[in-house]
Amino acid sequence: MGEEAGNALRSIPAVQTVLRAMGDVDDVPGVWRQEAVRDVLENLRRRVRAGSPVPPLEALVESARARSRELNRPHLRPVINATGVMIHTNLGRAPLPEAMMQHLAEVSTQYSTLEYRLEEGVRGSRHEHVEGLAAELAGAEAAMVVNNNASAVLLALSTVAAGKEVVVSRGELVEIGGSFRIPEVMALSGARLTEVGATNKTHLYDYERAIGDETGLLLKVHQSNFRQIGFVDSVERAELAALGRSRGIPVMEDLGSGVLLSVDIDGYQEPRVQDVVAAGIDIVTFSGDKLLGGPQAGIIAGRRDWIQRMKKHPLARAVRVDKMTLAVLELVLRWYREGRGSDLPLWQMIQMPAERLRERAQIVAAELRQRCPGLALDIEPDWSEIGGGSLPGTRVETYVISMSLPESQLTALERTLRQAPTAVIARVNRGKLLVDLRTVFPAQEHVLLETLVGAVHSIDVGQGKEGQS
Ligand SMILES: *Cc1c(COP(=O)(O)O)cnc(C)c1O
Repeated sequence: MGEEAGNALRSIPAVQTVLRAMGDVDDVPGVWRQEAVRDVLENLRRRVRAGSPVPPLEALVESARARSRELNRPHLRPVINATGVMIHTNLGRAPLPEAMMQHLAEVSTQYSTLEYRLEEGVRGSRHEHVEGLAAELAGAEAAMVVNNNASAVLLALSTVAAGKEVVVSRGELVEIGGSFRIPEVMALSGARLTEVGATNKTHLYDYERAIGDETGLLLKVHQSNFRQIGFVDSVERAELAALGRSRGIPVMEDLGSGVLLSVDIDGYQEPRVQDVVAAGIDIVTFSGDKLLGGPQAGIIAGRRDWIQRMKKHPLARAVRVDKMTLAVLELVLRWYREGRGSDLPLWQMIQMPAERLRERAQIVAAELRQRCPGLALDIEPDWSEIGGGSLPGTRVETYVISMSLPESQLTALERTLRQAPTAVIARVNRGKLLVDLRTVFPAQEHVLLETLVGAVHSIDVGQGKEGQS
């Protein structure tokens, strides 16, 4: 490090100096103000070592104020999803109905019947609130709910097949994302994997030949996040179920995204949970927050004896579901029971006609055009995605507001929107910033518009030069 940088480093003000100059910042508690100053100075030290000059105290104070306001906000916070990806795992998967929030608040801020039977005045089980509903909707003898579908699969395998062999098609050794891979979950459960068939084709005789004294389960895994095309074949679940029954071996299917409504999107159908159970599968596992449109949860539906054993397995306690989840999940399942499943926000989004989206986009675009005259703006046909490893490659027709900008402004606009007080997550594609209103709630349109206008103004779009962001 040169002498100059050394001198510059020594001229950086002390934490206390900046803090005193900062004074009070709205109602930001001292702890966040201090942390903000430390963050700003640490950042500055790094830049100074790289040769930057030390800015005046007032500039540092301004940065520290902004940082302290940021630190004073919850880190987990709402955003506007303008990507058109409906089950966006990074953005919280399925949005829940506002109408359920009062009940959620009451159940979680007061004492509840979580594990208490009012009629007898005795201890109950948290499973009782939803198991009847879930079983009924799935057409199964019994059901239970755990923390998420990954734990549902782990609990089911551990209960049914620990120490035994599980037969799975090589076409179904799926990785769901990150660390959830069927072979690894299998190993964790204590079951031994017996792979059968080829990547593209597995026949019934492959399963038949693999069955032996040690076989404890036949497992089918739904190809939920990818599709195979071409020379492919797999065994129908009804055939596999019949094989299991004839050999006295249970058959399980991990559905991933469990759907209770009939979907036909882009000519593609997802198997419904109740159809899978009706096909004779003994144990079905699926997520609460994918196509079901509810809170994060894993639902296991199937034969009563297996579900009973899963409830008693030590792992059940480790993966047990929280009361807040149960409060909302019960209401979600009730909506399905009442024939109102398609009123869930996720289903409202899926079903919103492209024409309606075009109208909404036109209204927002008209306002945007008026307030940002230099902006090259258009409405274009495009595709929304289901996402969340559901209905892979399935697209829903939509219209997007598209903004054409030079590369550097495009990047700046995307970043400015993302870092706005209410973050807007948009899509960048083909040199354009795309806003898909399918995943934007009508009640968010006003904030979306204001954020877009503010962001466009801050980067001086149409002036041909980039301002600060
Ligand atoms: C998504 C998925 C899982 C994991 O479910 P989570 O609810 O995310 O834990 C497991 N299996 C399949 C086939 C999936 O699609």
